Order: sequence, then structure tokens, then C-alpha cells
Amino acid sequence: MHETSLIQFTLDAVERRAKELGICHVSDIRLVIGELRGAVPEQMEIAFHLLTSADQARGLFSGARLDIEYRPVLLRCRACGHPFPSTLEAYAKAVCPRCESASHEILSGDELLIDSFCGE
Ligand SMILES: [Zn+2]
Repeated sequence: MHETSLIQFTLDAVERRAKELGICHVSDIRLVIGELRGAVPEQMEIAFHLLTSADQARGLFSGARLDIEYRPVLLRCRACGHPFPSTLEAYAKAVCPRCESASHEILSGDELLIDSFCGE
């Protein structure tokens, strides 16, 4: 499952950082994820529960909460600079609503970042 690898990636990164900071219990993780990552919110929750429960022996993530901010897709036209919203399904073939150019870049929607985490 795609979401499982996203969560595993997140937990690995948080664990590395927690070790550096001498944190032995993480209570909250705040994640920012763009729509282009194709993650289903419910599946993210399920994967988080499965993986943090599996970690119970060490206790680093026991009882931890996950807070996810989903970012919608926002494109910018390379021809006229006009920013416009899109979706995971449509962005590859999106056309600028102002000048009809099919050339665009992603302004937001492809994020996968750990905004912050709390622990002690
Ligand atoms: Zn344009």
C-alpha cells in the first residue's frame, strides 16, 4: 500500500531526528502532503495506526497522534505566469484558463514534508 510507505518514510525521518535530539517519546507528528502524492486520508490514518502499534515494543511512537495538512494542486502557467488550481487527475493535461498554454509548473501540491513533531 502506497500510504504505508509514505508513513514509514515519515516515521523513519522523525525517528532519526528524535535520536539526534535525545527524544524518547514522540506524541504528535504534523505532516504536510500535497494532493499529487495521491495519498488517501483514511488510508494514511490506518497505516499510521498499524505502524505505530507495531512499534509498541520500543515505545517511541506509542500513543502518538498524526495531524495531516493536505495541500491542493496549484499550477503556474509558464507562458503568462497565471496561477490556477488543478487536481491529481487533471494536472498533467491542464491548460491555462487565461492564455490556453499547456505549459505549466507546479506551485504546490507535490509536498511531502514533516512540518513538526513534539516529544520529550
Ligand atoms: Zn497562461
